[in-house]
Amino acid sequence: MNKNKNIGCDECHWQGFNVKGSGVYAKAELCICVQNCKECTGTGTLLSKNEKGYSYVTPCQICSVIRRNVKLYNMAGVPAKYHDVLQVGTRNDEDGVSGGHEER
Ligand SMILES: [Zn+2]
Ligand SMILES: [Zn+2]
Repeated sequence: MNKNKNIGCDECHWQGFNVKGSGVYAKAELCICVQNCKECTGTGTLLSKNEKGYSYVTPCQICSVIRRNVKLYNMAGVPAKYHDVLQVGTRNDEDGVSGGHEER
């Protein structure tokens, strides 16, 4: 049993996403291995139940971080020449707001 919770494949170099450097801005795209995350079936969230029987939704521990990073990456609009830079917008990671809703 593989206890490593990371997701990935050779396609994304085990990062879970691919960066397309074409155009003015680099664009991060979720890799197919994340889109088909077997933990959450690609939804990014998991339905859990607590001891009282209430069900609640939690972010998928395997792929939600990657999804968020990709979103931040694209929101930051990294110029294509910096497409090597992967540490984008990870500030306030600890006490950050919990982004419940998504806009698109
Ligand atoms: Zn992959
Ligand atoms: Zn997942």
